[in-house]
Amino acid sequence: MGELLAALVRAVGADYVLTAPEDMAPFLTDWRGRYHGDALAVVKPLTTAQVAEVVSICSRAGIAIVPQGGNTGLCGGATPLPGGRAVVLGLSRLDRIRALDTDNDTLCVDAGCTLAAVQHAAAAADRLFPLALASEGSCLIGGNLSTNAGGVQVLRYGNARELVLGLEVVLPDGRVWNGLRGLRKDNTGYDLKQLFIGAEGTLGVITAAVLKLFPAIRSRATAWVAVPDPQSAVRLLGLLRSHCGDRVSAFEIIGRSALELVLEHIPAARNPLPRMAPWAVLVELSDAAADAALEAKLLEVLSLGGEQGLVEDAAIAASIVQAQALWTLRESISEAQRIEGLSIKHDVAVPVSRIPEFLERAGAALHRVWPEVRIVAFGHIGDGNLHFNLSKPDAADNAAFIERTPEANRIVHDLVTGLGGSISAEHGLGQLKRDEILRYKSAVEMDMMRTIKQAFDPRGLMNPGKLLQLERQDTGAA
Ligand code: FAD
Repeated sequence: MGELLAALVRAVGADYVLTAPEDMAPFLTDWRGRYHGDALAVVKPLTTAQVAEVVSICSRAGIAIVPQGGNTGLCGGATPLPGGRAVVLGLSRLDRIRALDTDNDTLCVDAGCTLAAVQHAAAAADRLFPLALASEGSCLIGGNLSTNAGGVQVLRYGNARELVLGLEVVLPDGRVWNGLRGLRKDNTGYDLKQLFIGAEGTLGVITAAVLKLFPAIRSRATAWVAVPDPQSAVRLLGLLRSHCGDRVSAFEIIGRSALELVLEHIPAARNPLPRMAPWAVLVELSDAAADAALEAKLLEVLSLGGEQGLVEDAAIAASIVQAQALWTLRESISEAQRIEGLSIKHDVAVPVSRIPEFLERAGAALHRVWPEVRIVAFGHIGDGNLHFNLSKPDAADNAAFIERTPEANRIVHDLVTGLGGSISAEHGLGQLKRDEILRYKSAVEMDMMRTIKQAFDPRGLMNPGKLLQLERQDTGAA
């Protein structure tokens, strides 16, 4: 142990090897405070070479590595296991913008840049990096890629996976793979970078990436729209897309209970409409042209929606400040839920057309067995992705509430799978759904995943206990 720490200190400097419990504490608990772990040390390298050195030292000593970005993940992926003999690799010091290339529309960044810093670097060059999440001020781009983050503009630009051209990765044995290519086309075999994206740090440590840039957005129109039900929301999305094409850059649904939590807990929050609607959607149109007249277009389509009974009321933002206030309502839901107290979260995807059926059937099934549970539903309905969360009933005891998690998961996840969906749309598996997924993925699919893990990390030292276990287990799926 002493030798290991001495080697780590030689690799990164004494100030960046944390071992005191109070220094390590923030790295040993997840954002939601649900997972707590132990580590021998938290190590904070500055460069790829230092990451490689730290990984080599740990590999030789047989010590596990837990890569950690901004620690905003929602499934316990960045938290070491309790009692584990692991080193947490904090990546926030790798924060250089390496190269910006406006001819090729690419940006090469260190993995420890915050997502906001990446967005700003793109904006400074009159370009857009479209990944956008409520946690963008804290999450790091390496964490975004490792979780294949989604966010509010997937509808138009895709998930993180679709925004990457090249990666640099430190492999579990300490070797560095420089795959920092900026090519739009490269058919020379397996697309290795995609293996590391969404791998939640189980195959290697992402140290840098070449990202795609897009034209900067010069006009935008944003509206908060009351709709009678989710079916109307889905139909309104179709109407918008048929009239505005891919200028529809965001389409988020917010259930009444989600808005109520925000209004209760977030001091500046105000309902943009005079009445509480059962459902609202936050719509955004955007365009690279400054004169796209999007507000008029949005008004026209919403009026059409009104004639078809899809829209009950709407508030179109008249300024950037008003648009930001609408977005703040949407982006404060997670925070408001955290303040409210315990919740059982489901981050699920179904085909967009089946969202109304999912909401109806899941609500009915849950209330049959748990009449008092509060359903807080919201999310990226344009991508078929819902955050279907259950808030603790006021009178319920914390432990009794949490005990019902498996029962609630079974109802929601079985239904999602029956509708052709996924039990993790954005957040990943981490510790939270590592075992749950065994019920829903086929044995063949789990075998392929384990084969990949075995090939990269045969000793299981890279983020152990997350996403999958190396040893084969029975699966419930055919
Ligand atoms: P961490 O939490 O530190 O790590 C996440 C996982 O990636 C862990 O398994 C970790 O080991 C691994 N990892 C981190 N860095 C590296 C690396 N460099 N190399 C290899 N592995 C690594 N997610 C969405 O997809 N969409 C949303 O809209 C969204 N909204 C959110 C809103 C709020 C308020 C919060 C708190 C979270 C939200 N998230 C969302 C979840 C979270 O922000 C994302 O998963 C984010 O991508 C995690 O980035 P991070 O840097 O915090 O990673």
